[in-house]
Amino acid sequence: MTERKRGRENVSRQTMSEQDPLERIANFYEVPYGYSEDQAVREAMRCFQCKEPKCMTGCPVKVNIPWFTRLIAEGKFVDAAKKIKESNPLPAVCGRVCRQEDQCEKFCLRGKKAQPVSIGALERFVADYEREGGDVSIPDIPKWTGKKVAVIGSGPAGLAAAGDLIRRGHKVTIFEALHVSGGVLMYGIPEFRLPKKIVEAEIDYLKRMGVEIVLNAVIGKINTVDELLSDGYDAVFIGTGAGLPIFLNIPGENLVGVYSANEYLTRVNLMRAYRFPEYDTPVLRGRKVVVVGGGNTAMDSARTARRLCPEEVTVVYRRSVDEMPARAEEVRHGREEGVQFLFLAAPTRFIGDREGRLKAMEFVRMELSEPDETGRRRPLPITGSEFQRDVDVAIIAIGNDVNPLIRETTTDIQTNRYANIMVEPDTAMTSKKGVYAGGDIVRGGSTVILAMGDGRKAGKAIHEYLTGEKK
Ligand SMILES: Cc1cc2nc3c(=O)[nH]c(=O)nc-3n(C[C@H](O)[C@H](O)[C@H](O)COP(=O)(O)OP(=O)(O)OC[C@H]3O[C@@H](n4cnc5c(N)ncnc54)[C@H](O)[C@@H]3O)c2cc1C
Repeated sequence: MTERKRGRENVSRQTMSEQDPLERIANFYEVPYGYSEDQAVREAMRCFQCKEPKCMTGCPVKVNIPWFTRLIAEGKFVDAAKKIKESNPLPAVCGRVCRQEDQCEKFCLRGKKAQPVSIGALERFVADYEREGGDVSIPDIPKWTGKKVAVIGSGPAGLAAAGDLIRRGHKVTIFEALHVSGGVLMYGIPEFRLPKKIVEAEIDYLKRMGVEIVLNAVIGKINTVDELLSDGYDAVFIGTGAGLPIFLNIPGENLVGVYSANEYLTRVNLMRAYRFPEYDTPVLRGRKVVVVGGGNTAMDSARTARRLCPEEVTVVYRRSVDEMPARAEEVRHGREEGVQFLFLAAPTRFIGDREGRLKAMEFVRMELSEPDETGRRRPLPITGSEFQRDVDVAIIAIGNDVNPLIRETTTDIQTNRYANIMVEPDTAMTSKKGVYAGGDIVRGGSTVILAMGDGRKAGKAIHEYLTGEKK
């Protein structure tokens, strides 16, 4: 057996060291530190280099995983980063926030008998290595095809579509409603999980390839999809996400101190409310904070609240820990940071004081029914089990709907009953000629990598449409 093969057999999965929980609840710096060079090489050596790599089947953007792990094992870190970027323009982001445990790593052959190769941590390592070394080179862009594409929304779906299209020689302009680009990556996911300078660097990479970004441009208000098409754009990609918060619709929801997770996280992440008054936007820190929900957004809100509120932060979820959709790592980090959990309970009303400020919440205990045809156990309220708790800040993180603006101003685009844009699955094409869509606007609340996969799929289909390569 060669030295390398022996290494593959013996090395155990490398773990990233992390900021101490007691220290990190007093700051917003990133929690895991990332691999050292030595750790990255060791981890990459664990890859079996399968001839038919199953891991790639679990990657929505089809990164050539064995190829880039081999380059890392050989110490060619910058080459590895370049290899990933052929299919994924945001590797430092995906290395941090993708659910690798449910995607590429789930199919890793090594995972059958031991722990899978830590593909996400390796992706993060090479992207950071390349960026920090200032060694980011821009790929050759083909001569302009003469075609122009408008991309609406600069979240992962829009950025991936833009990256794909610019690499094929089309002019791309992204129109973004907010004053910064990045979508949820900038306004939703907190700094301690995804430092904003990393998102900015990955967006800068696209700009250096030639992608134009127009900020503060709300399509549907400044101009419509039809106007973009008649103003010289040959195709349009819609990646406007699902940013409209869903509320509980229970009494007292408009009391001072009740936030949607979107508002809370935007205030803290985008507007830097944790540095008020240095920054203009305030946020209530609270003494007893409740976060309602069980997904990543709930965990992000709770861990953010924990950094602002030294006393008590509780996640209230109507099912049990086993049904929580949040990543296990987020729940572990939350627990380490002192976030508390109240399972099988749901809010029934918010209670205010005379000034209209939240002072308490009422909950009802829940039990889980037998699994239905989808295999999911539905939570049912237990009659007479209501109880109250003192609460001065509540954050509602139970999901988002899509913003109706595009649908209302582009009536010939077909949507489903949840107002999601309907697309042809293989091409991301909508019912309107030359218009494509992907990400959360199509799927509802989903994931970064699925949004990017949609963007890339649309990029390919738009290219074929524009060049007549395929009818
Ligand atoms: C708090 C939070 C944490 C999350 N954590 C994770 C995680 O850890 N891992 C993971 O994989 N996924 C996570 N997700 C889900 C993931 O972020 C989304 O699935 C993903 O961002 C969807 O990408 P998108 O491009 O479709 O939309 P978005 O990221 O929502 O971007 C849409 C963009 O379009 C812009 N826009 C909207 N309307 C218009 C308009 N009319 N004109 C111009 N621009 C417009 C918006 O301002 C926004 O910038 C999280 C989501 C949230 C909210």
